[in-house]
Amino acid sequence: MTWKAKNNIILGLGRNSPRLKRISDAFVFAREGRVLKGTLAIADLERLHDLLTEVSGEVVFELQGRQGKRGEHLLHLQVTGLIPLACQRCLGAIPFDLDVDSLLELIPEGADMSQDELEDDTRDFLPVASELYVAELVEDEILLSLPVAPRHEKCGFPGAADAGERIHPFATLAGLKGKPN
Ligand SMILES: [Zn+2]
Repeated sequence: MTWKAKNNIILGLGRNSPRLKRISDAFVFAREGRVLKGTLAIADLERLHDLLTEVSGEVVFELQGRQGKRGEHLLHLQVTGLIPLACQRCLGAIPFDLDVDSLLELIPEGADMSQDELEDDTRDFLPVASELYVAELVEDEILLSLPVAPRHEKCGFPGAADAGERIHPFATLAGLKGKPN
């Protein structure tokens, strides 16, 4: 994916959690090879909520700064955790193992990028003013790593056992089709 395409997706996702762990200068963080590890509650990753059957648990992240061969500022982000994605057919839970492993190249926000750079999909650019909200970055990278339309491999819809009492737009339809009453 090109930087431009990715950036458009991120802009489209919006930003609504300007809080939690903040790095005051991401470029210094990278240059000095700093490491930040921690956990984030799913409850605080609000842009994930609509995609989940349940808002609970947490993700574990590790953010490591370093400099590349050309002197570029890099952030290596890894995120793991088990999240219950909602199946798009039955809306039941699909336990999904997060495995984010991204190497991002910091560029100053508003920097002029050459056409070659914009179209280079081997590099993942992250425009940043200087301060960086770790929760937003983690959220962005999780969202980009998720399947577009998650579905159970063998979905039991209609009447899937794990759909529980959940009320959704298809519940009535499923009831009409699956239950005699
Ligand atoms: Zn399903």
